[in-house]
Amino acid sequence: MVVKTKVIKLNPLDIDQEVINQAATIIKKGGLVAFPTETVYGLGADALNPKAVEKIFEVKKRPHYDPLIVHIPTPECLSEMAREVNKVILDLTAAFWPGPLTLVVKKAQHIPDVVTANLDTVAIRMPAHPVALALLKTAATPIAAPSANLFGRASPVSAEHVLQDLQDKIELILDAGKTDVGVESTILDVTQRPFRILRPGGITIEALRAVVADIVSYQGNQVLSPGMFKRHYSPKARLVLAYGRGLSEVESVKHLASEFAKQGYLVGIMAKEENRHCYNGSFNVKVFGSEKDLSSCAVNLYSILREFDKENTQIIIAETVKEEGLGVAIMDRLRRAAARTSE
Ligand code: AMP
Ligand code: MG
Repeated sequence: MVVKTKVIKLNPLDIDQEVINQAATIIKKGGLVAFPTETVYGLGADALNPKAVEKIFEVKKRPHYDPLIVHIPTPECLSEMAREVNKVILDLTAAFWPGPLTLVVKKAQHIPDVVTANLDTVAIRMPAHPVALALLKTAATPIAAPSANLFGRASPVSAEHVLQDLQDKIELILDAGKTDVGVESTILDVTQRPFRILRPGGITIEALRAVVADIVSYQGNQVLSPGMFKRHYSPKARLVLAYGRGLSEVESVKHLASEFAKQGYLVGIMAKEENRHCYNGSFNVKVFGSEKDLSSCAVNLYSILREFDKENTQIIIAETVKEEGLGVAIMDRLRRAAARTSE
């Protein structure tokens, strides 16, 4: 169905309840609304309405075997979604909710199978963004929401990014500016011990282990969760990662960039603040953040990939970050974005 997408700006510090009412009405009638969370923009539907959830898959062109995350407005709502809420789950939610931690739990009977790709478990999160929470409270239903982009593309961190992918495919986008975290939530499976990180994200393993000791780190080479595709978050351009540290990294980036440019490709470089001065004006360089502040790298990652696409860049050569703390999630996204095949 073709509709004209409305974009309504909201001040997260002074939310216009009338706008939230409009959005909640769309959700309750079985429609789709894109809204900001602290990680990325989500594409929301009433999680208890299978027809509404079906529209998410249609609009995103997402395969049905890729399950959705269900968003809830309070930690207490978890008991309505999960068959079992034990002490460890309560400790984790007390420490990290609202926030970028998704828990995979045993699902309650009434959650439609389309949400969970027929699994016996469901992924649940309480987001920290005031607009997301206002919408959840007003709609008074859990909201299933994957990132509001076309399947496989970079996640949207602004309303403009949502429009790039979903213009006139959804009714409404709530625009509260750029999101804070920039990468998706950490997904933790708490259905069996030891607990396992299924996707690295906004909450680091070090932070999780401070609350619950027996957590197995993310194993990037194993597919433990449906939907963890090898190729994902990808720009239209081909992304090539340059490894190495310091000067050798810069040399390798320059070498790759020159080689591709010689072959006639339009080349862009995604660099860290520390190396900015090493590239002279002959390259198109965008800085994604400082290695000393990995959160800045996370915030800018998807925006920069989309900026290069807007400029019709054909090859992006990207510097990498250390796989520590938030760097684990950043490198996971960069590797998937650079993968050439989905298998
Ligand atoms: P997103 O596309 O960012 O909303 O992330 C959803 C991802 O969460 C999926 O691609 C799966 O990898 C993961 N996920 C959702 N539900 C489950 C579940 N029940 N069990 C394991 N992983 C899940
Ligand atoms: Mg996604």
